[in-house]
Amino acid sequence: MKNLLVEKCSGENIKIKVGNVVIGGDKPVVISGPCSVENYDTMIEIAKQLKKIGVDILRGGAFKPRTSPYDFQGLGFEGLEILSKVGKEVDMPVVSEIMDTKDIEKSLEYLDIIQVGSRNMYNYSLLKELGKVKVPIVLKRGMSATISEWLYAAEYIMSCGNENVILCERGIRTFEKYTRNTLDLNAVAVIKQKYRLPIIVDPSHGTGLRELVPIMSISSITAGCDGLIIESHVYPDNAVSDARQTVSIKTVESIIENIKTYIKYLK
Ligand code: PEP
Ligand code: MN
Repeated sequence: MKNLLVEKCSGENIKIKVGNVVIGGDKPVVISGPCSVENYDTMIEIAKQLKKIGVDILRGGAFKPRTSPYDFQGLGFEGLEILSKVGKEVDMPVVSEIMDTKDIEKSLEYLDIIQVGSRNMYNYSLLKELGKVKVPIVLKRGMSATISEWLYAAEYIMSCGNENVILCERGIRTFEKYTRNTLDLNAVAVIKQKYRLPIIVDPSHGTGLRELVPIMSISSITAGCDGLIIESHVYPDNAVSDARQTVSIKTVESIIENIKTYIKYLK
């Protein structure tokens, strides 16, 4: 790759400001919330508790790319409306996945950050359209994508005019079946050393197992990532999607405490 927008030689490292939160700045950010927005009451309860423990940004899926078409597909725009209302009530920016170009414009009324899911990293029409807006994009790594394919996907968005791209390592498919995916922390080190974009890690999809989320969270931070996106719920076992990898709010709190300890140790 030569002279691409993602490369360090193309300019300054990219820092992305969302409300009062800076992604790619001095301090790792924590994004958390349920896999799916389920209803207003559950969402506001989760959000209030996450706000209290210092989570920076709220997540919640409304358009869900489920492997089976018979599984819960998300609440669609009703979910985005709930997420946006809750985000405003607790004063937190919100992020959610958009899968279809036709939904981008309307989603901008509700979202501070748009997520491109792993299954859509190769959806070049979607990437090009997201290049025409200014809102920050969390670009998840395709589950079988090489680092270079992932960077080209970022390049699609950036070359169309939107440089506000945040890479998200969420695990890749390997022969290993014990975990849902294999979290590739090499990718974090590579991106931080050679490229301009901020990178966050999703240890929830990266492992698929809630008991591994705390250790892989701190491992990701020590590998140098700019933040984490963690699936959490007030009743993790009852989460309507991805319950097995969903942690409690208390677990998110202990992850945040560990990050603070690590930062102090570095100073
Ligand atoms: C998600 O964040 O809920 C999600 C579906 O993630 P991924 O696209 O990484 O599978
Ligand atoms: Mn999920």
